[in-house]
Amino acid sequence: MKKTSIETILSHDGKNAHSKGAVVPPIYQNSLFTMESWDDADKTFDDRVNNYIYTRGNNPSVRIVEDKLAEVSGGESAKLFASGMGAISASILSCIKKECHVIAIKNIYGPTNNLLESYIKPKFDIETTYVSGTNIQEFKDSIQENTTLIYLESPSSVIFNLQDIEAIVHIAKPKGIKTIIDNTWASPIFQKPLAMGVDLEIHSCSKYIGGHSDVIAGVVIGSKKDISSLFTKEFELIGAKMAPFEAWLLLRSLRTLKIRMDQHQKSALTIACFLENHPKIEKVNYPGLESFPQYELGKKQMSGYGGLMSFRLKTNDLVKVKAFFNELDLFQIGVSWGGHESLIYAPAISYLKELNKEQFEGMGISLGDMRISIGLENAQDLIDDLNQSLALI
Ligand SMILES: *Cc1c(COP(=O)(O)O)cnc(C)c1O
Repeated sequence: MKKTSIETILSHDGKNAHSKGAVVPPIYQNSLFTMESWDDADKTFDDRVNNYIYTRGNNPSVRIVEDKLAEVSGGESAKLFASGMGAISASILSCIKKECHVIAIKNIYGPTNNLLESYIKPKFDIETTYVSGTNIQEFKDSIQENTTLIYLESPSSVIFNLQDIEAIVHIAKPKGIKTIIDNTWASPIFQKPLAMGVDLEIHSCSKYIGGHSDVIAGVVIGSKKDISSLFTKEFELIGAKMAPFEAWLLLRSLRTLKIRMDQHQKSALTIACFLENHPKIEKVNYPGLESFPQYELGKKQMSGYGGLMSFRLKTNDLVKVKAFFNELDLFQIGVSWGGHESLIYAPAISYLKELNKEQFEGMGISLGDMRISIGLENAQDLIDDLNQSLALI
């Protein structure tokens, strides 16, 4: 029987997929795989990308998860990495060469921006152009003879702006420019960039794919050809490989990915509506809200929404902002997201350390900006928590 629906792919491995009828596969906690003979070794090395030789390359516990992620995303092949940044750095390196030009979105994940700007750019003499990503003309105007990569993150970090993925691919493909997207926010459940023609889809599996706040991992999904090239170069040589136990935890997480995403989305939408209508809130950035400026584009290219959003308190008074932030009970204070637990973070905490007052104001960030990740708690309980804290300011 063909497994076509996502829930079935995620929860089912096929009858007798694992030995002795085990419904959960064992953890292959080993560094190497032995071979039968000279000829067997010779044959095994003919296909290093697919065979089990050494765990810095392949491992069965890791492969099960890679295959499932590839299938769910509609890709031919996937490679797991030790972290999202491991996946991002390997993917970017696979699409650049000395003195090339890269186009990226302005509000990408901070460390990705640092990687491009402070590390890759000076080291390889690369030119970079940052675009807001909301206007297709910006991409057309930025392309140069030596452009090799367009790096997307839709929705982007902090303000969740979207890019028109299909339109960008349409410009990039005929010019032989590779496209990469960080698809962590939407998860492989709600957005299918590979079907829209993107070359490499990346997730930080530390967020929704892991979902239990107990794993750091990343994945790159794409064509057999691209992943095979990535495997023998940026994956095996730089060596940010996934550990078998972490992969086993991810397999556990994948069983519930669809139902978790449905729940995150349902609660997040309820909470975004509550916040939007609250007199002490100035605005809410959440692509699932009808008031979101790119709501129509979101509906066109996503089938649902994640649980991460940001909002701005009307007050800029640091004493009041801190009171709201500190008095939340169910929302814990932390920087990651995508787990079972609801979290809050204020971007100002980080920016105030790095920037002076003028720079801070120039960034368009307010002291009252908050980022929340909606977990799997009861939505009304979370609203009550926000409400009691908002009443204090
Ligand atoms: C967390 C995150 C990453 C980095 O992933 P790690 O697993 O922490 O290395 C990349 N992109 C986005 C959008 C993230 O939120």
